[in-house]
Amino acid sequence: MKSVYRVVIVGGGVVGASVAYHLAKFGWTDIALIERDVLTAGSSWHAAGGFHALNPDPNIAALQAYTIDLLTEVGEESGIDIGMHMTGGISFATDPARWEWLKASYRTFQSLGINDVELIGPDEIKARCPILSTHDIIGGLWSDREGHIDPSAVVHAYARAAKKRGADIIEHTKVEDLRQRPDGTWDVVTDKGVVHAEHVVNAGGLWAKKLGQMVGVDLPVTPMEHHYLVTEAIPELLAMKGELPTIVDLEGFTYSRQEQKGLLLGIYERDYKHWHMEGAPWDYGIELIQEDIGRIENELALGFQRFPCLETTGIKRWVNGAFTFSPDGNPLVGPLRGVRNYWVACGVMAGFLQGGGVGKSLAEWMIHGEPEADIFGMDIARYGAFASNREYIRQTTGQFYSRRFVMSYPNEPLPAGRVLKRPAAYEAMTRAGCRWGRVGGSSSRSTLRRRTSRKSRRCDAPTRSNSSAQKRVLPAREPLFSIRPHFLVTK
Ligand SMILES: Cc1cc2nc3c(=O)[nH]c(=O)nc-3n(C[C@H](O)[C@H](O)[C@H](O)COP(=O)(O)OP(=O)(O)OC[C@H]3O[C@@H](n4cnc5c(N)ncnc54)[C@H](O)[C@@H]3O)c2cc1C
Repeated sequence: MKSVYRVVIVGGGVVGASVAYHLAKFGWTDIALIERDVLTAGSSWHAAGGFHALNPDPNIAALQAYTIDLLTEVGEESGIDIGMHMTGGISFATDPARWEWLKASYRTFQSLGINDVELIGPDEIKARCPILSTHDIIGGLWSDREGHIDPSAVVHAYARAAKKRGADIIEHTKVEDLRQRPDGTWDVVTDKGVVHAEHVVNAGGLWAKKLGQMVGVDLPVTPMEHHYLVTEAIPELLAMKGELPTIVDLEGFTYSRQEQKGLLLGIYERDYKHWHMEGAPWDYGIELIQEDIGRIENELALGFQRFPCLETTGIKRWVNGAFTFSPDGNPLVGPLRGVRNYWVACGVMAGFLQGGGVGKSLAEWMIHGEPEADIFGMDIARYGAFASNREYIRQTTGQFYSRRFVMSYPNEPLPAGRVLKRPAAYEAMTRAGCRWGRVGGSSSRSTLRRRTSRKSRRCDAPTRSNSSAQKRVLPAREPLFSIRPHFLVTK
């Protein structure tokens, strides 16, 4: 480890390794990636390793497509076999509205120039995945470019490719504090000594919140538990040539893929559970959380109905791990306004699918002042101090997790985090029929129900006349977001 670097990336998971790779690839030198333990020692080592094409935000779908292309490239560049299985994948619908949604997604892909997707019927789905029960399936969206990789190998591939391009990869070194000098540069205090750096990147994954607190910022991110199981060998798969595609059962809350001659089944349960909301303990290592089958049994039962062969197959391994979520489930990327030369690349829920796009965008931002693509959906600036509220984080991340496969409609107002900050007239307006939505961190009037009486047809606000009531009580329309909300810097 040198004593001076241009940039120190804290965190050797898939995201930090991708940031290091992209900075080096785009021409920066003097890059250090500092890892507390060994590479992958956060969420990354025990990911299910799947990648899927679908994302409701077209810009994020495009960055996911970039990541999928990059995985093979980085494997070749590093000389590490990343265990690429490009099996293709199916997301299917058992509900007419979902089928419409899949057809709309298909059109979105076409408009993005992603042409390796097609809509297929239940017979074709059965042909491609013979162990799937398809009796109630209306249709599915097939994508050629879905599959799975070996998560640890991918992290090592990014890191080795970055190293080949000049970056230093430093393991077994914990960043204990970050102290900013008056000129905006950083003293990065580690357990092996102090490093001076112009820029710091928080790619701390499960510890990202604690790394934010080192500079006085409470990032809106929290770990949550997540289960998958791996079965023993399945006779049908032993007899089958080729490999199953990845499958997402959108109405069943499960995803799956082949693991050797067995099946890996992952569950997004509605009865979600947070894990160390303040960030993982510093001594948390490469370990698993005790599985909690009772909490996921409803979704598990749906998974077993979808794959009848599971009824007679043993379970070889349970994985209950933690990974991080932001309130809307999208990554937190970019410069942290109010803290010079401090960048974030955290809250990445699907690091193997999105890590390439996150690394690319952040590296462009740091080097050129802005990312090439429109990444508004991932920009940390979409949140302000309001998002540090614990209850807000708890409700919104829980809502996101439990709705992971639930359809959301454009501009659909969701209930979480609504009434945490109320206007003075909240009670009176509620009595008057106001329905509340949320803008930023505050409750905001969504609709005012009119009284049914034709004669009065007015808001029953606590005032004398309807028109003056509306003038007095109804807030002016608020902007959706202020231009660049700042986090409260408390240090
Ligand atoms: C059960 C499970 C299944 C999953 N399945 C998938 C999947 O199929 N596909 C997919 O794309 N994603 C999946 N994920 C999510 C994926 O694992 C994460 O999105 C990804 O690993 C996040 O990577 P990261 O680099 O942001 O964080 P992490 O992997 O948590 O890495 C952060 C690193 O920072 C280091 N660090 C933190 N603080 C410090 C410090 N102060 N000093 C030095 N080092 C520090 C840590 O030691 C750690 O190694 C799954 C996760 C789990 C748990």
